[in-house]
Amino acid sequence: MAGIYLHIPFCKQKCTYCDFHFSTTFESYRKSMIDAMCSEIRIRMKDFEGYVGIKTIYLGGGTPSLLNQIELTQIVSTLQENIEFNEVLEFTLEANPDDITEERLLFWKSLGANRLSIGIQSFEDEDLKWMNRAHKANDSLNAILLAQKHGFQNLTIDLMYGLPNQDLERWNTQLETVLKLNVPHISSYCLTVEERTALKKFVDNKQLTIPDEELVAQQFDLLVSTFEEHGYEHYEISNFAKPNAYAIHNSNYWKGEHYLGIGPSAHGFNGSERYWNVANNTSYIKSILQGVLPQTKEILTPQNQFNEQILTGLRTKWGVDLDKLKSILPLDEKFQSRIEFMKSTGVLEWVDKHFRLTKQAKLQADFWASELFV
Ligand code: SF4
Repeated sequence: MAGIYLHIPFCKQKCTYCDFHFSTTFESYRKSMIDAMCSEIRIRMKDFEGYVGIKTIYLGGGTPSLLNQIELTQIVSTLQENIEFNEVLEFTLEANPDDITEERLLFWKSLGANRLSIGIQSFEDEDLKWMNRAHKANDSLNAILLAQKHGFQNLTIDLMYGLPNQDLERWNTQLETVLKLNVPHISSYCLTVEERTALKKFVDNKQLTIPDEELVAQQFDLLVSTFEEHGYEHYEISNFAKPNAYAIHNSNYWKGEHYLGIGPSAHGFNGSERYWNVANNTSYIKSILQGVLPQTKEILTPQNQFNEQILTGLRTKWGVDLDKLKSILPLDEKFQSRIEFMKSTGVLEWVDKHFRLTKQAKLQADFWASELFV
C-alpha cells in the first residue's frame, strides 16, 4: 500500500524549536509554488512503477491550513487526475489551531479530507509564548471542539513534553486536558534542541533550561501509563491510538511501504531507492519549471535496508519481522546471539516471528536499534 506526502513550505511565523523546511515570506511566489507542486505530481506519476496503489494522502508542512480554497482545489484536482481517489483510505490535512474555522473545516471536508492533524504542542499559554506559536491555548480547545462538531472525529493532535519549566505536575495537567477532549489519536514528542534554531540560542544563553534526562524519562512513563490506562494503544514510540485509530499513512512509513514525496524537502521511497527534493523554495520552482526533478537519489544497499527495517520496526508495537530481515540478508550467528542477549536482559521480546522492544526499553529505541545494525 503506497502513500503520497505533500509538503507545503509556508508558515505564518517561525516557531523557535522548528528545523523543518518552510518560509514565512512566500506571498510573492505562492502561486508558482502550487503550480510547481502540481507539475511535480504529474511528472512523478508518469514514472509510477513501484508506487502502485496510493491509499493515503498526507498534506503536511509547513502549514497546509494556510492554503486558500483555490490553492487546495488545484492540488486536490491534480491528485484526482492522477490517482484513484475513491481508493484512498486516509486523507490527512495538517492544521494549526488558529487557522481552524467553520468555513475551512467544511471546505476541507468537501475536498475529501477525512483526518485532521492539529498542531497543539502545549495547552499552556506560557509555553506557546516562548515557542512563538501563532495560537493561544484557548484556540486549541476551540479548534478541537469545532473540528469534532463538523464531523472530523478522526483527528490527531501533536503535544510536546520535555519543555522548559515543565515539571511532572504541569505535564500531568496537559495529559488530563487531552483525556477530556476525547481525541482518538495523539502524537507526543520530546522537545529536541536542534542546531540553527532560536531555541538553541535561548538554551545556550541560559534564557531557557530544558529538563534533565531523568525528568524526561518520568514524563515519558507518565505519558505511556496515562494513555494506556485510558484505552489508547502505544503503537509507536511517539504515537497513541484508540482501537482502529492508527495513522495509516505514518504506519506505512514504519512498515517500510512505498511513498511519494512532493514539494521542497519532501522524501520518497520505493523499497530500494530513496530520493529527497531540494530544501529551497526558489531552486525547487526553478528546477520544476525546467522539467527537472530537483532531487538527490540514494540506492539503498541490502545493509541499509536491513538497518532501516530494524530502526523503524523497533519503534512500533509490531516490531521487526524476522522473515523480512532474512529476505534482505542472511542472519549470521553474531546477530542471532545479540538478539538472544537482548532478550535475556529484558530489552527485546518476541511476538510470533517478530521481535520488539519491551516497555522499559522504548525510550532508548534508537540506541537499541543501533546495537543491532549490520
Ligand atoms: S508551524 Fe509547524 S512547520 Fe511551521 S514553524 Fe511552526 S512547527 Fe515549524
